Amino acid sequence: MSTHDPNCIFCKIVAGQIPAKKAHEDEQVLVFHDINPWAPVHVLVIPKRHIATLADVGPGDEGLLGHMLGLAPRLMRDLGVTNGFRTLINTGKDGLQEVYHLHMHVIGGPRPWTKG
Ligand code: 5GP
Ligand code: ZN
Repeated sequence: MSTHDPNCIFCKIVAGQIPAKKAHEDEQVLVFHDINPWAPVHVLVIPKRHIATLADVGPGDEGLLGHMLGLAPRLMRDLGVTNGFRTLINTGKDGLQEVYHLHMHVIGGPRPWTKG
């Protein structure tokens, strides 16, 4: 099983080869602030292991996916978001995915937002 794609920008963030403003890290995932935020708080939750898209998850990844989703409310609380948030996973070409390393956007904070 490949865990690191040397051409992948998010794998480079996991490896510390590209800087990112981290919000959380554990054995399975890394959370960092989006470089182009839509809202006062906009973080990306990514698995440390390279998985290109949500369409590429397999049996055995349910725990990882549950962990990613389950982290969202805690992250938002810790980042001071008190009035709701969005969770979003873009998948593939028609899903308008730009970075092909699975990531969940978690977006919140007072409106107006620039997007979404
Ligand atoms: P997608 O459209 O693939 O769901 O979204 C990719 C997201 O990654 C975009 O919101 C974009 O701003 C963010 N992004 C792309 N490159 C970088 C980077 O090098 N660092 C950080 N922090 N975010 C990035
Ligand atoms: Zn990757």
